[in-house]
Amino acid sequence: MKILLVEDSPTLRYATSALIRAAGHEPVIAESGEQALQVVDKMPVDMIIMDVEMPGLDGFETTRLIREWLGEHWIPIIFVTGLSEDENLREGIEAGGDDYLIKPVSQVILNAKIRAMERILAMRDQMNKLNHELTLLSQRDSLTKLYNRRTFDEKAEEAWRIATRNKAPITLILLDIDHFKQYNDEYGHSAGDTVIRHIATALKRCLHRPSDVVARYGGEEFIAILPGTPKEGAHFVAERIRKTIEALNIKHRGSLTSEKVTASVGVSVTNYTTGTTLFDQINKADEALYKAKENGRNTVQLINSEPATKILVVDDDTATLNLISKTLIGHSQIATAQTGEKCISLAGDLQPDVILLDLYLPGVNGFELCQSLRTNPATATIPIIVMSESKKDELLDFAKRVKANGCLQKPLNLDRLLAKITPFLH
Ligand code: GH3
Ligand code: MG
Ligand code: MG
Ligand code: MG
Repeated sequence: MKILLVEDSPTLRYATSALIRAAGHEPVIAESGEQALQVVDKMPVDMIIMDVEMPGLDGFETTRLIREWLGEHWIPIIFVTGLSEDENLREGIEAGGDDYLIKPVSQVILNAKIRAMERILAMRDQMNKLNHELTLLSQRDSLTKLYNRRTFDEKAEEAWRIATRNKAPITLILLDIDHFKQYNDEYGHSAGDTVIRHIATALKRCLHRPSDVVARYGGEEFIAILPGTPKEGAHFVAERIRKTIEALNIKHRGSLTSEKVTASVGVSVTNYTTGTTLFDQINKADEALYKAKENGRNTVQLINSEPATKILVVDDDTATLNLISKTLIGHSQIATAQTGEKCISLAGDLQPDVILLDLYLPGVNGFELCQSLRTNPATATIPIIVMSESKKDELLDFAKRVKANGCLQKPLNLDRLLAKITPFLH
């Protein structure tokens, strides 16, 4: 063990560190309370032997500070002192000490105390390990070893927050085994359990991304959240899951759907612009699952709640971008660009229903930017509404020259903004 010896007297430092070494441990020396704090801050030690009477911070005060610093992490602290009054002993224990030795300290006594503390330390480690295992166990479902519903809810909330912050799409998948009551009736409950376990393994195999979270949501229902997965990917993954389960080729005589075990899959997809909640999206996935059951089972149904319309907002000012994005949440999908280059590439890729374009971007000539949008076949027909702080007449004149479909004066009036873009969203 690394034992920190805090002692201001050079003679005692020398003698006690020799005793520590003789007991088979490695002494780390601090000549004062202040130095002891520095050591504890820099390196892990297993135990502390602390002189009480020292100039500056005394042993009790140092101990209080160390306990505060280490918080939950407990290590034994043994005081060594010339004081033998009951009151001193009480104060030492109050300060956070675990034992008390009176000077001069013999090798035999010191060895015995270190041994006793070592035993307590081993118990602490064992307890921490068990606690850790217990925590892991309580997060899992015992049959499948997947996360349980409670853990899913926690992890999904976290994933939801991150995806929303990153403006990423989010997919939820809900899966329910088809005619499973029938399976239990035919083959018995324990065979049913085995099927649940096989399906859990298949699910894990189908979801590869570290950010994917999959769980057993109830009896024979499973759930997964796939942050950053848009509609196309969602459908692909859900189909892969459905096919993988079918390919397990587990006989199911009682099923009205197939002679094998199959599952129905409900999927919901959304993104931050919809302003919905995780709870809503789980309900949507449930709705989709219900449809999958209605549509004959062994099938995937997807509900996409991303708005169908898309708006590209181009402005170098982040506050304006945020204001417009917030106003249009639940209304349209918003893409943003802060440069002319990004505007041109996004407009071509996304094919927005309308572009809201700030005329004054740093280093960009608004007129030329409009011209290049108008002359590029990929973007030529996309309506453009120009925005600027210019006077109304100037703005109108400019809009006419670049063949814009409308203009908005800054500072923006949000009602007017909505009125201007609505005709372009069908
Ligand atoms: P559907 O195709 O409509 O889903 O029919 P279903 O019979 O699967 O109906 P439902 O999903 O409502 O029924 C779930 C059944 O799954 C109820 C129960 O018999 C069985 N089940 C639920 N949990 C377990 C479990 O832990 N082990 C086993 N063996 N069976 C379970
Ligand atoms: Mg001293
Ligand atoms: Mg069910
Ligand atoms: Mg079922």
